[in-house]
Amino acid sequence: GKGIAVFTSGGDAQGMNGAVRAVIRMGIYLGAKVYFIKEGYQGMVDGGDNVVEASWSSVSGIIHKGGTVIGSARCKDFRERPGRLKAAKNLVKKNITNLVCIGGDGSLTGANLFRVEWSSLLDELLSTGEITKEERDTCAYLNIVGMVGSIDNDFCGTDMTIGTDSALHRIIEAIDAIVATAYSHQRTFIMEVMGRHCGYLALVAALASEADFVFIPEWPPEPNWPETLCKKLAQERAMGQRLNIIIVAEGAIDREGQPITAEQIRKVVVDQLKQDTRITVLGHVQRGGSPSAFDRILGCRMGAEAVLALFEMKPDSEAVVVSLDGNQAVRVPLMACVEKTKAVAAAMAAKEWEKAVELRGRS
Ligand code: ADP
Repeated sequence: GKGIAVFTSGGDAQGMNGAVRAVIRMGIYLGAKVYFIKEGYQGMVDGGDNVVEASWSSVSGIIHKGGTVIGSARCKDFRERPGRLKAAKNLVKKNITNLVCIGGDGSLTGANLFRVEWSSLLDELLSTGEITKEERDTCAYLNIVGMVGSIDNDFCGTDMTIGTDSALHRIIEAIDAIVATAYSHQRTFIMEVMGRHCGYLALVAALASEADFVFIPEWPPEPNWPETLCKKLAQERAMGQRLNIIIVAEGAIDREGQPITAEQIRKVVVDQLKQDTRITVLGHVQRGGSPSAFDRILGCRMGAEAVLALFEMKPDSEAVVVSLDGNQAVRVPLMACVEKTKAVAAAMAAKEWEKAVELRGRS
């Protein structure tokens, strides 16, 4: 039958296990041989025990776990052709010509490059005698389906990425805990959340926690933000509010593109308002804990759709990403989404904020 392999790459995210589980089981159900590749591209390059055939029961009891049980890694080797050559050989030896890549835009870009290069990699392996002509012919095409696992919701082309909802739950739990103590002491607190290039977590957490102010990279504040901020905070206190909440994305910047840090904000509030002000940096807590019901189901639905996509692909079909559109799992062209995601970063780098926000769109 068809040889399919699934791997997780780049940063981990809650819900990846649900996606892996669905790929394995849908693949087996449809009669494919399905493999895990452990440790992302590194496992693909190293081969050996990293590429393991999966059974129905090998994915039992993982859907409730955070992170990714098959491991993820950054892999320098795969960025260079010799690394991809080794990876291709390891796949051909197991008759794997279908890949499901669960990762961020970097991982998906790598997967697409691999597909484009595939036949030349196989020609090279044939010429050095590392694979046979028969192996080259039976493995002539590589099909790729991607799913975006990222807590930041930083990918254009899907309404939600796998892991975002769980990270939001974690952030809201942390804010609620801090609100109780801040309320008791009439404090102002500043919470730094993840999102180097994407303010989704910060923005949605701010809305859901009635924050007074939020700093995100796509929409930097006006240069007089310290005044605006202090006016707002003072006004809230004057109306009897006992605490103030400020949310800042780790990638927050000003209109010059310079970072706005939690410490900078704290200094403004302390210097101008003398408010008792504390900073919390949530860090990896946001990636931790068990996946939310939403992320488990999102992973399952996307994983199942990914396998269906592979079964319907022609040998030379372009790579697709399974994405969420409204409440539907749909297939969208992988490279178009990667390019749009890169265009957001480029717009931010060029300080074209309105364009960045428009490009970000629903995702
Ligand atoms: P993410 O997938 O979360 O964006 P990275 O950008 O770190 O994370 O990518 C994860 C891995 O994907 C890298 O360590 C590398 O092995 C592979 N990769 C990323 N970009 C490319 C590329 N342009 N070409 C080949 N491989 C890539």
